[in-house]
Amino acid sequence: MRVLISADMEGATGVTWPADVEPGTEQWQRCRSMFTSDVNAAIAGLHAGGATSVLVNEAHATMRNLLLERLDERAEMLTGRHKDLSMVEGVQRGDVDAVAFVGYHCGAGEEGVLAHTYLPNSITGVWLDGEPASEGRLNSFVCAEYGAPVVLVTGDDKACEDAARYAPQARTAAVKDHVSRYAAVCRPPGRTHAAIAEAAQDAMALAGRTEPVRHGPLTVEVEVDAEHLAGAAAVVPGVERVGALRVRSTSPTAYDMIRCFKAVATLISNAVENRYG
Ligand SMILES: [Zn+2]
Repeated sequence: MRVLISADMEGATGVTWPADVEPGTEQWQRCRSMFTSDVNAAIAGLHAGGATSVLVNEAHATMRNLLLERLDERAEMLTGRHKDLSMVEGVQRGDVDAVAFVGYHCGAGEEGVLAHTYLPNSITGVWLDGEPASEGRLNSFVCAEYGAPVVLVTGDDKACEDAARYAPQARTAAVKDHVSRYAAVCRPPGRTHAAIAEAAQDAMALAGRTEPVRHGPLTVEVEVDAEHLAGAAAVVPGVERVGALRVRSTSPTAYDMIRCFKAVATLISNAVENRYG
């Protein structure tokens, strides 16, 4: 059984603050160690549940956060950015029996520790076919298109609630309880790692390739916090402006949907000015 872990950082043990996840800061150096331990706990649990191979795809910021030198030796790690499918790169290989979202978080505009969708700010909401869409929800559609079920989600308690909406069968492990966007009641690594490992082991009962799901056409709407950002997003072919702060696009497949969304997010990010947004 081959498993793909998509590892994001905002939902890791102990993480509650922008500096915790900002490459180069002292806090990030500390938190990447706890992030690596969360991933190792998942790898251990997945193997205990029957996984024979685990590929960890880094999915946060520059996608260079995990400490390879501390990674469980049974796993391999895809590190670095610029990948066709970004956070779920690897799922298109067609031999993935299960996907685990480790360190995930809620979407823009939702309650949740460090909640956002792709960009840390500027994007205030994303909807997929009319439903609020976190990164987990967007990526789950891509995984389904490649016949790989999402079996495990870890993050704060709100991210686990979010998972119930897009992968209701998945096992979850909450490593902290949301208090505000920048505050949480955190449990120490010793406890969260046991919870992650247990959930990961159970999750392997759900592993097994499915018939690829053809969802398309998929309509994505993105709302931003400044008018010119909607204009920047509408530069992408097929993306139309549907309001001062809103753009919409319809894609034939989840593959096209996530790539179009990534282009939109990149152009928005590029158009943000330092103080005026
Ligand atoms: Zn994220």
